[in-house]
Amino acid sequence: MKKMMGEAGNPGVFLSKVHRTMTAPYEVLLYYKYARLEDPDAYAEEHRRFCKDLGLYGRILIAKEGLNGTVSGTKENCAKYRAVLDSDPLTQGIAWKIDPEEDHVFSKLSIKVRDEVVTLELGEEDFNPIDLTATHLNPVKWREAMKEDNVVILDARNDYEWEIGRFEGAVLPDVPSFRDLPKWVRDHRDELEGKKILTYCTGGIRCEKFSGFLLQEGFKDVYQLDGGIVTYGKNEEVKGEGYEGECYVFDERLSIPVNRTDGAKVVSKCRHCGMPSIRYRNCAWMPCNAQFLLCEDCEDAMGRYCAKICKEVDLMSRVAVIGI
Ligand SMILES: [Zn+2]
Ligand SMILES: [Zn+2]
Repeated sequence: MKKMMGEAGNPGVFLSKVHRTMTAPYEVLLYYKYARLEDPDAYAEEHRRFCKDLGLYGRILIAKEGLNGTVSGTKENCAKYRAVLDSDPLTQGIAWKIDPEEDHVFSKLSIKVRDEVVTLELGEEDFNPIDLTATHLNPVKWREAMKEDNVVILDARNDYEWEIGRFEGAVLPDVPSFRDLPKWVRDHRDELEGKKILTYCTGGIRCEKFSGFLLQEGFKDVYQLDGGIVTYGKNEEVKGEGYEGECYVFDERLSIPVNRTDGAKVVSKCRHCGMPSIRYRNCAWMPCNAQFLLCEDCEDAMGRYCAKICKEVDLMSRVAVIGI
């Protein structure tokens, strides 16, 4: 199902990719905008109508501090969507990340109003990144900075995201969600103190906030990757250099390739046999449904289960049903 690493090196595959890019009737838009939305509920209502008219699917979060979304739709309607947001003074200046696709990558539209567009839950200490955020580094400057001494490359994503890919040598906080990062930082102060901190995330939105938080915590030398891993992977000069594995994304694609250089490798492993794999599956025992990495061989051999126990319970429950 997934594209394998290094396929850009194969001219045949590359050509078919170019062909697909030219003919793909759909697009996926990944974007965010920190703004000042006075009435997020009213904005969301209007936005929902607008998206429905355009037949867009996806997930959009709206808060006083701005909006954050991934949507899929026909090329034409995605262009209309972008044009409207680009011409609205509230949302002007979005750095759109656009991927061609054959079809929708969502099955419905969900627009929610939240307190924050990314959930850091700073409470009293909350701020809008419009007022406080670290210096942005473009992909070329980021690649240079990663090679400097006394640098900490800090992954601002969740553990299940960096499991399948991250920048080489990055510090990988073992946090299941973004809201756990502030505590992690406070617990690991000594590892970060006095260092140049480079933070990155998928598309840049979390780092706008997280890097601001680091500054607020008193760290002086903080930078963020502009546009995140997605932009870094698309950049024609760096071609994803220094990134290992794939980039986890929150839609049906699950992950996308980043590194298009010869040095690309797979870092994640099949949970059962430990062989390199980027193949995510959900456990077949419905009450578990855990997402985990599973190679094709292991799936053939033992089914789509994350653990033996899930398989046993599932098979037992089936026997029980038949027994009735
Ligand atoms: Zn395996
Ligand atoms: Zn399971």
